[in-house]
Amino acid sequence: MPSPIPSIYVDDSDEPKELPWKWVIHSSCEGHGTSSAYLGVFTRDDVDDDPEFFEEYRKGTFDRPCEGCDGGRVRVIDEDRCSPEDLAAYRKQLQDDAEDAAIRRSEMMLEGGWRDMY
Ligand SMILES: [Zn+2]
Repeated sequence: MPSPIPSIYVDDSDEPKELPWKWVIHSSCEGHGTSSAYLGVFTRDDVDDDPEFFEEYRKGTFDRPCEGCDGGRVRVIDEDRCSPEDLAAYRKQLQDDAEDAAIRRSEMMLEGGWRDMY
């Protein structure tokens, strides 16, 4: 899944303004671009119960393309090349987005709809 180019929405334009960005290694998958994190965390007991499954697991049989990165890389804003005004606007937008997401999550939990996400 491609990672979006960091951009801000400005009042006088319908098009988002793209900001300077750079590639960094995605921390969730450590640059592999695949992940088995969706399977969750296993205990030693789980491994002992089903060693064949874990043999496949270790080989990466169950890996899926990592969510939210581009082959193990993600675009992040390049703060050194970004004007202070744009940087401030970008940070504010991130904060607003996070608040929106938190509100949406709590609404979904109330409706019990969160199960449909998985
Ligand atoms: Zn990733």
